[in-house]
Amino acid sequence: MYKENFLERLEKKHKWVGVTLFLDLIDGLSLTLSYLFSKTVTMRYPDKEKWVPYPRFRGHHFLRKHDDGDTRCVACELCAKICPCYCIKVVPYEDDKGNRRPLVYDVNTARCLFCGLCEDACPVEAIALGQFFEFSRYESGHLKVGRDELMKMPGKTEKGGSIVKAHLLTGDGVKIEAKEREGYNWWKFVRRR
Ligand code: SF4
Ligand code: SF4
Repeated sequence: MYKENFLERLEKKHKWVGVTLFLDLIDGLSLTLSYLFSKTVTMRYPDKEKWVPYPRFRGHHFLRKHDDGDTRCVACELCAKICPCYCIKVVPYEDDKGNRRPLVYDVNTARCLFCGLCEDACPVEAIALGQFFEFSRYESGHLKVGRDELMKMPGKTEKGGSIVKAHLLTGDGVKIEAKEREGYNWWKFVRRR
């Protein structure tokens, strides 16, 4: 909970004290000066650090799997029907065990508005929007993602809102590699007062 400091309490009680002694100015300057001696809050993205969004973040889609590696998707097409942008295409088939599975499961992320309706509609929690956000491409055609790629996409971390160590790799396109899934809490270095 926010606590008033001494200067604020004094100013509230005796308005003239604040005006005469420029207490607002002193208050502002003291905050600026205190930042001079505090730890930096600048994120060194993408060279050294990167932000891991909270689990509620709606980033790139991914398909969840069963323990045996098979997709959880039963190709019911509900996600495709509910999508307001018509960016999901599902073609079902029946596998050797008689399970209904997606032969084709394409998401066109160039059209997607990341509303999360597909995730909400899925009866088996197969499709979800994760925390991965670095998937820009030079051509919009490359933003169409298929079933196998969606199954390899990173899922959600339990926590988020933190900074992890990262490396910028420019050898084969531009990639930001981060090995940790959870890092330090950046917000603790940001003082609002
Ligand atoms: S997030 Fe919304 S727009 Fe994107 S694929 Fe899902 S339902 Fe469609
Ligand atoms: S992802 Fe879910 S809603 Fe979409 S086709 Fe598969 S099972 Fe149905």
